[in-house]
Amino acid sequence: MAKHTDEIRALLADAAERGMRYLAGVAERRVYPEARSIERLEDILKAPFPDRPTEASKVILLIDEFGSPATVASAGGRYFGFVTGGALPATVAANWLAGAWDQNSFSFVSSPAAALFEEAALRWLKQALRLPAGAEGALVAGATMANFTCLAAARHEVLMRAGWDVERQGLFAAPEVTVIVGEEVHASVVKVLAMLGLGRERLTRVPVDGQGRMRPEAMPEIAGPTILCLQAGNVNSGAFDPAATIIPRARAKGAWVHVDGAFGLWARACPGLAALAEGFEAVDSWATDAHKWLNVPYDCGVALVREPEPLRRAMSVSGAYIAPSGRRDAIDVTPDSSRRARAVEVWAALKSLGRSGLAEMIERNCRQARWLAGELSKAGIEVLNDVVLNQIVVSFGDDDRTTRAISALQRSGEIWCGGTTWRGRAGMRVSVSSWATRQADMERALKAILAAGRQ
Ligand SMILES: *Cc1c(COP(=O)(O)O)cnc(C)c1O
Repeated sequence: MAKHTDEIRALLADAAERGMRYLAGVAERRVYPEARSIERLEDILKAPFPDRPTEASKVILLIDEFGSPATVASAGGRYFGFVTGGALPATVAANWLAGAWDQNSFSFVSSPAAALFEEAALRWLKQALRLPAGAEGALVAGATMANFTCLAAARHEVLMRAGWDVERQGLFAAPEVTVIVGEEVHASVVKVLAMLGLGRERLTRVPVDGQGRMRPEAMPEIAGPTILCLQAGNVNSGAFDPAATIIPRARAKGAWVHVDGAFGLWARACPGLAALAEGFEAVDSWATDAHKWLNVPYDCGVALVREPEPLRRAMSVSGAYIAPSGRRDAIDVTPDSSRRARAVEVWAALKSLGRSGLAEMIERNCRQARWLAGELSKAGIEVLNDVVLNQIVVSFGDDDRTTRAISALQRSGEIWCGGTTWRGRAGMRVSVSSWATRQADMERALKAILAAGRQ
């Protein structure tokens, strides 16, 4: 038994040592793995399912030796792809510890500790984002599932008001639901609307302005069961739909208003940025991510719904509104049943940062983005968006040149940015969303982008 315990200790210490070595090297290594690192990993993973056991220490060695070099260094400070974020040290450590706990956090009884961490994390999230204290919510896999969760509650409520119980009766003979989105709606919202039976092609798409914001004067008249999906933080430009003009009118007409604020909603946590996201508190549901700008490990999204009842009606296993345990059971407010204890990492992030640390991290990323955009403009490289947040869309001239510059930059290994299409043009998207990004990283990014542009 003692030997057994010693072996486990040695194994975990070895894994921790390897993890620490990885993180110590991540600041200086290439950001995107070399093709031969990916090939080496692919080769060893082609092995057939072994007949016999392998020592756990050997398993970890293989994962590190072949896996680590093939990873994308998004935990470091020079990764600017998609909207990704790193993982704060406190959250990586919390993740390791919570991994040892291996809690199943589907209900209060299955893990009181996980349930309490989730209640506390949600309470602090609402305080950080200045959202109503009474909102109910859950931690889910990402903003996609958060959008799904919120929009299932929306579907329940607008149909219930029209005399139709969608969870009981299904959708086939239900009253029509109008779903309004902006032309620049995130693809994940369209996907979850399709999953909810609301149809990709029957969405009403509102035209947008040059920054991708919904144009209020182009909003259709709202009548009957209606769900309106707004965006706080366009995935390319970082722009916000005009909350103050659209939300009160839509809610007065009885629409359910939902906000996809995967990263943009975090502007509400910063005094210096809050004006951008003012008004978004007055909606029915909010989807955001913790694995993006809160910098917790993958995966973790956040769904919040103003009134608990529609969420419970949409998600409860039993169809009952009140949980039998008398405590909040996650299984009644999320699409999942068994799930890991994501809340431990969210709580660790919020506890370690505090209000001031959170605001400082987000504002710093925005300052870094504005600095880079300014330097690029000075160097004659076109920035296609107003840099209001942490997102920059860059053009190197025509689409062909832009595409070639992105490839050159990605091959360089200095930084990594992805391509996008912005208002009909090819663009390179730079997202500054990591706690680990320092000014020195921004200077390397500037040099690398200018070099790629000269090629
Ligand atoms: C990233 C993102 C999503 C999807 O989030 P996941 O965490 O990848 O599921 C949805 N909307 C916006 C605006 C995003 O930036």
